Amino acid sequence: MSIWNLGSINADHFYRLDRLPEPGETLASKSFSTGLGGKGTNMSVAAARAAGRIHHIGAVGQDGIWARDRLMEYGVDTRFIDTVDAATGHAIILVADDGENSIVLHPGANAAIPDDLIGRALAEASPADILLMQNETNGQLTAARMAEALGLRLAYAAAPFEAEAVKATLDRIDLLILNEVEAAQLTDALGRSLADLNIADIVVTKGADGCAHLTAGTETNHPALKVTPVDTTGAGDTFTGYLIAGIDRGLPIAQAIGQATRAAALMVQREGTADVIPDLKEVQDMAL
Ligand code: ATP
Repeated sequence: MSIWNLGSINADHFYRLDRLPEPGETLASKSFSTGLGGKGTNMSVAAARAAGRIHHIGAVGQDGIWARDRLMEYGVDTRFIDTVDAATGHAIILVADDGENSIVLHPGANAAIPDDLIGRALAEASPADILLMQNETNGQLTAARMAEALGLRLAYAAAPFEAEAVKATLDRIDLLILNEVEAAQLTDALGRSLADLNIADIVVTKGADGCAHLTAGTETNHPALKVTPVDTTGAGDTFTGYLIAGIDRGLPIAQAIGQATRAAALMVQREGTADVIPDLKEVQDMAL
């Protein structure tokens, strides 16, 4: 079995400054670096690190070929990442010495994924494969419809939260992954509790408090590991990539949640995102 991830690909440009600029002010940065980012990318890398067979469906501009190459180096199938006539999605991240930050996100190619690309990719999928998606690209409804027609399982990590996107695909979702804030936004938007939704499995992540798994009218809490976090960026994406890969490898969902919880606990103790996601051996070998 394998995973088809309709996901964003970003260049994250980090600028370190003494302080954030005021409106109209120009400040010189003290340092600059570029990293691979985007929720979709992080999840693809996490799934690959978790020994999942992962195919990424997405788009970059001419300036993003390096990002596609990096995904390939991580073992992700990049045949269905098209080069389109748009800038590669990117984030301008200003980080001040006191840790305060400001971010400008430009979706670029992530919002220009052709429908026919999704079709070409999923034409190679087998029933019982998993389609994974988030909200940093276009094409969710198209992909969800195709997944249903092909008998794929649909996993939706509905972040950043967009009520309309989730509502439009609600009846087709098999596994919904949300953090606590997104869960509250969804129940507000629907006027219904999560338990009332017709979704086989819902996982609500709760940071240092772990996660809750809702299925068949029951709710099970899975505590997080007690660690000292240094940077929680990418913890949720690592959790999701590991969870999906575990399910795809045939683990019962409780075990897949256990591996995802360990991987995320390692991740919060590291600075960085895609490039520092732990591999399955590290997760299995970690001392508890
Ligand atoms: P982010 O957007 O910061 O990547 P998120 O909001 O999507 O994350 P969280 O609920 O914060 O997701 O975290 C996902 C999982 O990561 C949690 O369920 C937990 O297993 C792990 N995790 C997060 N923070 C901590 C922490 N401080 N200590 C241990 N585990 C953590």
